[in-house]
Amino acid sequence: MGGGTGTEYEKMTPDAACIIAAISGRGKTNCHHHRPERRENGGERQNGSLCYVQKMRRIYLDHNATTPVRTEVLDAMLPYFSGEYGNASSIHTFGQRARGAVETAREQVAELLNASPQEIVFTSGGTESDNHAIFGVVRASSTEQRQVHVITSAIEHEAVLNSCQELQKQGVQVTYLRVSSDGLIDLEELRRAVRPETVLISVMHANNEIGTVQPLKQIGEIATEHKIYLHTDAVQSVGKIPVDVQGSQVHLLALSGHKIYGPKGVGALYIESGTRVAQLLFGGHHQRGFRPGTENVAAIVGLGKAAELARLSLGEDAARIGALRNRLEQQLVSRVPDCHANGAGAARTPNTSNITFAGIEAEALVIALDLKGLACSTGAACSSGAVQPSHVLTAIGLRESEARASARFSLGRGTTSADIDAALAIIPAAVGQLRELSPTYHSSSPAALRQTSK
Ligand code: PLP
Repeated sequence: MGGGTGTEYEKMTPDAACIIAAISGRGKTNCHHHRPERRENGGERQNGSLCYVQKMRRIYLDHNATTPVRTEVLDAMLPYFSGEYGNASSIHTFGQRARGAVETAREQVAELLNASPQEIVFTSGGTESDNHAIFGVVRASSTEQRQVHVITSAIEHEAVLNSCQELQKQGVQVTYLRVSSDGLIDLEELRRAVRPETVLISVMHANNEIGTVQPLKQIGEIATEHKIYLHTDAVQSVGKIPVDVQGSQVHLLALSGHKIYGPKGVGALYIESGTRVAQLLFGGHHQRGFRPGTENVAAIVGLGKAAELARLSLGEDAARIGALRNRLEQQLVSRVPDCHANGAGAARTPNTSNITFAGIEAEALVIALDLKGLACSTGAACSSGAVQPSHVLTAIGLRESEARASARFSLGRGTTSADIDAALAIIPAAVGQLRELSPTYHSSSPAALRQTSK
């Protein structure tokens, strides 16, 4: 939307705009909420529910939270909202065309994972896929006489952690593996955790907050040796690094459309043929009755296209994005005193950098950077606003104050070298400003102590 004479404005809720205006010190001058003369901008509804603030170039470094839908993906989806509106279960031509599109998408997702199409079940996203894998295996293995046990890690996404906590309430025993300071599980600890009643190991492939990649192949070997099913939450690895379900002996794998430049609200669960998984939903005959519900054809088509494009561009994207991430991280660590990158000693997804800036509150940094046009995160997007420090960062051994001082920068296909230059200009200055305001930084930071002892 335009703002008239050269200046562009963007829409926000009055609350967000006023908070930004207040924090930025730009006060009332920049916010249409306080400037009635701006009310004609864009010809939008002017019922007090919207506000306009000056538009700026925005840099998005939060791709682990979500990614933009690729143009090719949107183009592939669009016909299924209008002309191709058939129900994929109908036997007439409308339905069969939709069915064909769904099955093509199943092949595309399978190919990305080195799986067979019949091993792919479409779901509503990563959360449903994780839930289905965990509750499905446990239900299929439990009997009244049989006590069952599940092994997972302390740094899983809430979709796995909260599922496991729910299982515990239902009497299932769960072991949460600790991780090293780089966020890796210890394979010997995993071996020791296995019990005769263990039915499932659920360990994520790549971590959403620090990007650490677990040794899936070795975990798969341990699971196979003990005849235990292995589920992996691969929501953050699929599309970023190669994922091969056969090479890693994984039985179940969760992925999500909106993390791979596909639409939100769609995902998939890979289930190796022969794996015993109970169904969780009951209804019609969709997806062989195993996951009933009329297929969201457009979203599934989008997921399939996104999977195909990810397979084709993965190598090139990983190399380019990895080089940008490394430059950002190395430069930040060398330019900003008292900061360190988390998980940097382990294999990581190439796009993720999590940095602790001693003496600041990451929430304040995220707001300060947003004011300068840079979007990043304090950790998992779903936990923003939660007062608890990140469970991932405390699990790798950070003190609570350090965990609260950590920000995640996650790059993506749209990130350019110019974005990184801009980020390198913005972030050190913002950290410096916050540290000047910090009551604790000067007295406790090693750099400050070094300075005072000079
Ligand atoms: N697992 C991981 C590692 C994630 O990062 C996310 C989302 O952030 C999920 C699961 C949940 O996926 P969805 O948003 O598709 O439900």
